[in-house]
Amino acid sequence: ATPTALMVGTGRGAKMGILIKNGEVLEDVNDVTTVVFDKTGTITKGKPEVTDIIGDEKQVLTIAAALEESSEHPLAAAILDKAQAEQIQAATVSNFQAIEGKGVSATINQQQAFVGNDKLLNEIKIDSELNKQMIRLQDEAKTVVFVGVDQRIVGLIAIQDAPKETSKEAIATLKARGLRTVMLTGDNERVAKAIAQDVGIDEVIADVLPGDKADHVEALQKAGKVAFVGDGINDAPALTMADVGIAMGSGTDIAIESGGIVLMKNDLRDVAKALELSKKTFNRIK
Ligand code: ADP
Ligand code: MG
Repeated sequence: ATPTALMVGTGRGAKMGILIKNGEVLEDVNDVTTVVFDKTGTITKGKPEVTDIIGDEKQVLTIAAALEESSEHPLAAAILDKAQAEQIQAATVSNFQAIEGKGVSATINQQQAFVGNDKLLNEIKIDSELNKQMIRLQDEAKTVVFVGVDQRIVGLIAIQDAPKETSKEAIATLKARGLRTVMLTGDNERVAKAIAQDVGIDEVIADVLPGDKADHVEALQKAGKVAFVGDGINDAPALTMADVGIAMGSGTDIAIESGGIVLMKNDLRDVAKALELSKKTFNRIK
């Protein structure tokens, strides 16, 4: 009788846009105590927009757009959109390099240029005025990237990625069921906390390098079974490590392959529905 229950459960899920890819995840769903979320594209819309530019806007955008043309990061798309709207002609670059979790760099006119967060700056000092601006913008839940040439910061760009309309309700539902909620992100701690507070997530683990997400999931598993919800290339190992991996249907192919459950509507409220459906299905199979 068990395969029938599984088919009924997965069929019902498919109608709701919840794909249960394998029956294995069902065994663990009953015992999940913690739900861990990626930020960008999972809690937020994943459509970042440039909101503020500090410094000479034209100069900052000319350099930033030139570098970001070779990047596939969502932040790059936001910067390129803004440059296009301002009719900025991007300079030509060579020696492009993406530095994981930090930013990008390349050569423009024989000078080394960069766009990225403070971790990319190394020994370059941020003056106190710029530092003040950075903190203000991050507290507004905006991601800040510095733009520089030749070891000198020429300005910064603030980029905002708003939470999806349903994220707050989704988190409230999970918390009402007694689940612990955690955000796991490569973004800055101040930005992450501002967004976490916005949607009601209790715990934040920020500044996580892409390769380290799975390790954090493993550490959280010491306290109980963990569901991980994500969408990016860098989320794939965490989706595999988690007891229940839940991928966004809008996510990268590798994330979708790594998840045991896929949310086709990209609505975070479907996390609670997926857990509930899996529980019911599993209890019928037993
Ligand atoms: P997330 O978990 O939010 O997807 P990532 O690991 O992809 O984070 O990136 C972390 C941080 O690295 C970004 O918030 C940004 O500060 C910096 N970064 C990464 N790629 C770029 C880029 N192409 N341009 C500017 N900054 C970048
Ligand atoms: Mg993401």
